[in-house]
Amino acid sequence: MSAPPLLMIPGPIEISDAVYDATCIRPKSHVAPDVIEAFGSALEAMRGIWLASADSTPFAVPGGGTLAMESAATNLVEAGERAVIVNTGYFGDRMGMMLERRGATVVHVRADVGEVPSLEAIEAALAEAPTKAIFATYVDTSTGVATNPKAIAALANKHGALSCFDGVCATAAERFEMEAWGADVFLTGSQKAIGLPAGIALWVCSPRAMAAREALSAAPPLTMDWLQWAPIMNAYIERRASYFSTPPTTLVWALAVGLKEILDRGADAAEAMEIRFAAHERAANAMRAAWASLGLTLLPTSTDHTAVTLSAIWYPEGVDASMLPKVKAAGAIIAGGLHPECKTKYFRVGHMGEVVYRPDDLLRTVRAVATGLAQSGHDADVDAAVAAAKAVLEA
Ligand SMILES: *Cc1c(COP(=O)(O)O)cnc(C)c1O
Repeated sequence: MSAPPLLMIPGPIEISDAVYDATCIRPKSHVAPDVIEAFGSALEAMRGIWLASADSTPFAVPGGGTLAMESAATNLVEAGERAVIVNTGYFGDRMGMMLERRGATVVHVRADVGEVPSLEAIEAALAEAPTKAIFATYVDTSTGVATNPKAIAALANKHGALSCFDGVCATAAERFEMEAWGADVFLTGSQKAIGLPAGIALWVCSPRAMAAREALSAAPPLTMDWLQWAPIMNAYIERRASYFSTPPTTLVWALAVGLKEILDRGADAAEAMEIRFAAHERAANAMRAAWASLGLTLLPTSTDHTAVTLSAIWYPEGVDASMLPKVKAAGAIIAGGLHPECKTKYFRVGHMGEVVYRPDDLLRTVRAVATGLAQSGHDADVDAAVAAAKAVLEA
């Protein structure tokens, strides 16, 4: 009678029943009329979810978040150009490696674990020398730290730089207004906050980002080249099939269902996204109330820069990663640490996507974590933790 444990890591995550059903189909052709319709509608839905302009270009390409990152690194910047990275952890380091391979001059603006670089430090790096693009991770999945993309995009615009945001652990959960904020690229992978199985890299480019690609003197690798993929995306948006490399048709089918589900919650995209952002915020507040009642401390040093999509939590005194299987046995799969400086000292709980609409799943997760802590010797009042989260969800 016991249900399988919930998948509460920071991606892949639990998916909706409709998305699950959509993945259980016989393989379809990439030129089938219903796939053309699904692909076109999914790309249009991306513009809505990204709150992007009608002349932006959405991309849905086989691959992961890492591929989306490298496509941005190689299409925006080339050898000899300067790039600034707002580095809040593991994925900022990875973006730096990609840009260095491209031959760019990379400047990291770093902060200690759990902190964010100040806007003053970011602006100083931009002001120091002409910069082609600034790259920031919205939510660093290794620490649960969230940067301020609105302010970073504004600084980029002020200093004539393009702005690119890694939204792999943020898109469709943390507020992002691509057009209003003047951001140039916002990228993600299908298995994180947007709530699909792994396998599709997703990003939207501003017209300025596309123009930057066109102006490059050295083209990116063919499979990552926006100029190879954009005509394919535009064809599907016009409800025509076109071929560069076979799209993952089963995932595209599920993508159309999942994105429609997000948008159907509101009368229009703006309202649907407000509903979605608010649901994530409420879920995050509920989880934080539970962690506080358990006497736990988060890695992010201030709620001003704490992600709503996951909690990164220091193990309390005397507890270590041997707690994780206990939590699983109690009903939720959670993750260990990832940041190289301290990965054995903390654990992570995802709370993004469909589960934010399922209070029972959130409470089951709290119960599982609290039970694992209690079984590991921490003085944890399991019922009080569940009650603390429940009070927020029912407020
Ligand atoms: C997971 C993640 C990535 C990498 O995505 P993959 O799909 O694993 O390649 C990049 N950036 C962030 C912020 C992530 O959370």
